[in-house]
Amino acid sequence: MPARTAQQLIDRLQKQPPAIYHRGKRVLDVTTEPGFKNGVQSLASLYDHQWENRDVALYPSPDSGDLVSKTFMIPTTQDELSAIGDAMHQRAEFTQGMMGRMPDYLNRSLAGYAGSADFLAVQGEQFAVNMRNYYQHVRENDLALTHTLINPQINRAVSAAKQKDPFLTARVVSENDAGFVVRGARMLATLPISDEIMVFPSTLLRSPEEDAPYAFGFAIPNHTDGLKFQCRETLDYGRSAYDHPLGARYEEMDAVVFFDDVFVPWERVFLYRDVEVCNNAYLATGTVLHMAHQVVCKAIAKTEYLLGLASLLVDAIGIEPFQHVQDKIAEIWINLETMKALRFTAEYQAQPNQYGVMTPAHAPIDAARNLYPKLYPRMVEIIKHLGASGLVAMPTEADVNGPLSAEIEKYYQSARLDAHDRIPLFRLAWDTALSAFGSRQTHYEYYFFGDPVRMSMALFRTHDRTAYMETVRDFLNRSA
Ligand SMILES: Cc1cc2nc3c(=O)[nH]c(=O)nc-3n(C[C@H](O)[C@H](O)[C@H](O)COP(=O)(O)OP(=O)(O)OC[C@H]3O[C@@H](n4cnc5c(N)ncnc54)[C@H](O)[C@@H]3O)c2cc1C
Repeated sequence: MPARTAQQLIDRLQKQPPAIYHRGKRVLDVTTEPGFKNGVQSLASLYDHQWENRDVALYPSPDSGDLVSKTFMIPTTQDELSAIGDAMHQRAEFTQGMMGRMPDYLNRSLAGYAGSADFLAVQGEQFAVNMRNYYQHVRENDLALTHTLINPQINRAVSAAKQKDPFLTARVVSENDAGFVVRGARMLATLPISDEIMVFPSTLLRSPEEDAPYAFGFAIPNHTDGLKFQCRETLDYGRSAYDHPLGARYEEMDAVVFFDDVFVPWERVFLYRDVEVCNNAYLATGTVLHMAHQVVCKAIAKTEYLLGLASLLVDAIGIEPFQHVQDKIAEIWINLETMKALRFTAEYQAQPNQYGVMTPAHAPIDAARNLYPKLYPRMVEIIKHLGASGLVAMPTEADVNGPLSAEIEKYYQSARLDAHDRIPLFRLAWDTALSAFGSRQTHYEYYFFGDPVRMSMALFRTHDRTAYMETVRDFLNRSA
């Protein structure tokens, strides 16, 4: 089947609804449920967008010849990798980078695993075959995935096996010829309003024996029996796009995942009970680098949006003469160019990995994914500092059309905009930086790829610095 359209995504969600729980009830249809339906529409619109931009967004499937999303491509050349980057950037631009969990992110995960599936064969050829088949299934049906990697936040001082109850963290209960059964929970899954879920390990598993029942990688449909998504409270409050320009569009939702004796068939299993293989899988296959490549492209689009937004705020209220204002805009601009430089370096220095997949260069990708969690909160702070009271002084759409409309027209004008244009701009800045939606975005950018503290510890361990140490030693030993 060729790449999907918006309507096909909606039809599938209606036919095969995931078990979504929200504010004390089961949501039967996310495509019509207040608090969910607008996020579903935005997700769906990405599927029409890919057809409207087919030259950038689609490519012929190597198997069927149908046009499929380029975000599934397994690149073998730098040009292909750059073309994937361009497609991901264009799609992220369409949502101002505010849908962190566009399907592209996990499409890259699957492409990474499928391209290097031979790594999975160390546990048995069937695991590699399963991955290649699953990748093909998702690509040819253009499915949207969520994933869950982290164990529930109960006691972080001890491993999954040492929690009060061994089944607090999702764990294998039993297995037979057809598959195995999982019980317990995982957090977090962003975009539960999708078709399938990848359940992979990213938390470091410690003991080869004790942690083996927690060591698995599999994927199943979101409507599988026993699989339940407990959502946080929606940040789409059912207001107009005028009042909540982002929240009313891009609620992708986050959920804790409950596995109530969920059956996983063997053909959907890619990693099983081998702690070492699980711990190495993301890096050894290069999958984490392909995912981070998407993250960097999205971060560039998001920073472009922030630069445009901050510049419009400055222009609207005439604060461009002030030196600190110029400095703050310069800071966002420098961030943007830094992220672009890291993306292009990662593509330019890409090399085929041992499985022949053109893999983004590790060092610039690692620099970018460790840097952005620090840059994003700072840029949001800049929006707050530039907008000042203007961000909390904005009337709603009802006010603009209400009994004080004449006063609002008069007093909400700015140096270069009349009230009619100024209010939506400042509401957008508020929804970016101050609203509950904006606040969750900042939290997302800080945490979604992992704990920045542990990520920089990993960076410290991974990247060799001996050449630089040698240079300093040589200098110290130089006689003149
Ligand atoms: C909005 C949002 C969306 C997300 N979406 C997804 C998703 O779709 N799929 C998914 O799998 N995950 C998702 N995550 C989870 C994300 O991967 C985690 O937030 C991240 O890995 C940090 O883990 P944690 O939240 O469990 O924090 P914890 O591990 O509980 O950490 C809490 C605090 O303790 C410290 N700490 C804990 N253990 C250690 C340690 N060993 N060493 C040093 N410090 C430590 C941390 O630094 C932190 O300050 C999402 C998170 C957010 C906020």
